[in-house]
Amino acid sequence: MLNTGIEGELALSKDRKYLWHHISPYSEANPPMIAASASGSWITDIDGKKYLDGMSGLWCVNVGYGRKELAEAAYNQLLSLPYFPLTQSHMPAILLAEKLNEWLGDEYVIFFSNSGSEANETAFKMVRQYQQQIGQHYRHKFIARYRGYHGNSFGALSATGQAQRKYKYEPLSGGFLHVAPPDSYRRPAGQSVEEFNLLMAQQIEDTIIWEGAETVGAVIMEPVITGGGVIVPHQVYMDRVQEICKKHGVLLIIDEVICGFGRSGRRFGHHNFGVKPDIVTMAKGLTSAYLPLSATAVRKEIYEVFKDNSDDYGYFRHINTFGGNPAACALGLRNLEIMEQEKLVERGDLLGKRLSAGLSELLGHKLVGDVRSFGLITGVELVADKQTKEPAPLDTVKGIIAECKAKGLIIGKNGDTVAGYNNVLTFAPPLASTDEDIQFILDTFTEVMNGSWAQ
Ligand code: PMP
Repeated sequence: MLNTGIEGELALSKDRKYLWHHISPYSEANPPMIAASASGSWITDIDGKKYLDGMSGLWCVNVGYGRKELAEAAYNQLLSLPYFPLTQSHMPAILLAEKLNEWLGDEYVIFFSNSGSEANETAFKMVRQYQQQIGQHYRHKFIARYRGYHGNSFGALSATGQAQRKYKYEPLSGGFLHVAPPDSYRRPAGQSVEEFNLLMAQQIEDTIIWEGAETVGAVIMEPVITGGGVIVPHQVYMDRVQEICKKHGVLLIIDEVICGFGRSGRRFGHHNFGVKPDIVTMAKGLTSAYLPLSATAVRKEIYEVFKDNSDDYGYFRHINTFGGNPAACALGLRNLEIMEQEKLVERGDLLGKRLSAGLSELLGHKLVGDVRSFGLITGVELVADKQTKEPAPLDTVKGIIAECKAKGLIIGKNGDTVAGYNNVLTFAPPLASTDEDIQFILDTFTEVMNGSWAQ
């Protein structure tokens, strides 16, 4: 294994020559960390330095690293049947689809893909075809929220409400509209959280009405905007959104790519609000990211419409070579069994409360404007001025992240937006983290904040 300084340098020079990194600027001064191995919540880099992964990769390694059972599930499946397309069927996909119904707690039919973006693309195509097939020919539009992220492909990026991720690639897909998110921290003075959330939900109904309800196919939202800055809605918002969708014949797609699989403190994020989505998209925690796999879960009533083959075009004309790969499905099933056996959903909820309480102790810090949590996700919003809530400068945000990293703690920040809100630090460690891991996060972050950043 490459684990000496010299080999680390050699690896870095090859990295520089051959590898294009995802969404990261090239920087001589700030070289990428080259990971070599991982166990539990800890990653070891090529030079042998250890880091606590306070973001579970990209909010995805829910059961933690180094799970032999997952490797074995994939290995055994690769030996017996490594591939078969889901134009027909295989047992790992059937069993995982059944298990997902159990986890969702309702009757859904499952379409497998490979990534969160593809799960959302699939949902958009299903919505357009479904609306046509029930005679709603004009219902092609989608409503999403600013600051939400739904993926990198053209449709999913069109649904995304973060301008900096989009403007270099425009024009994107037509028919995607955005409304403001329920960012209660920045509500107007004098408005209660409930009043503000109802007004934000009303933006959705107003948009539907102004556009003409007969042109709107679906609303897509995460239960909580995660990567866009941990924006947690009030219950009244989610109730009202559901009511609005029903009233206007608009489907509700809930993007559970991050919030699913215990991350929210419940099995799915929408379970926290008692919402009944028409379509649920999921990825990441489905396999704890050990292999690529995503799913679009669709209510049975919607699926029924695609059974009409009278004109030979009633079925869903969408195919995906790798989606639902047998090894990925077998691993996904084992992943969910581990979560059940080790009660990781409940553990995530408990750890989330501890993490949130610990981070909230920093609310007196001059840079900490707000601390928001949802299960084992916490966002710490940094501000330059607590009165005006002016976001902290990006250099401050990056400086704190770099100092945490130097002390062996990886944390994240929300996606950039042209609106300047790239000031939310994010924490989402594995659900299987130990008590000591959580304490390490709290101690390290507190030490960093109370060091040079306290002046
Ligand atoms: N939806 C949400 C809420 C996400 O956070 C992400 C990825 N971070 C996606 C969709 C897209 O998933 P992927 O990167 O697997 O395509």
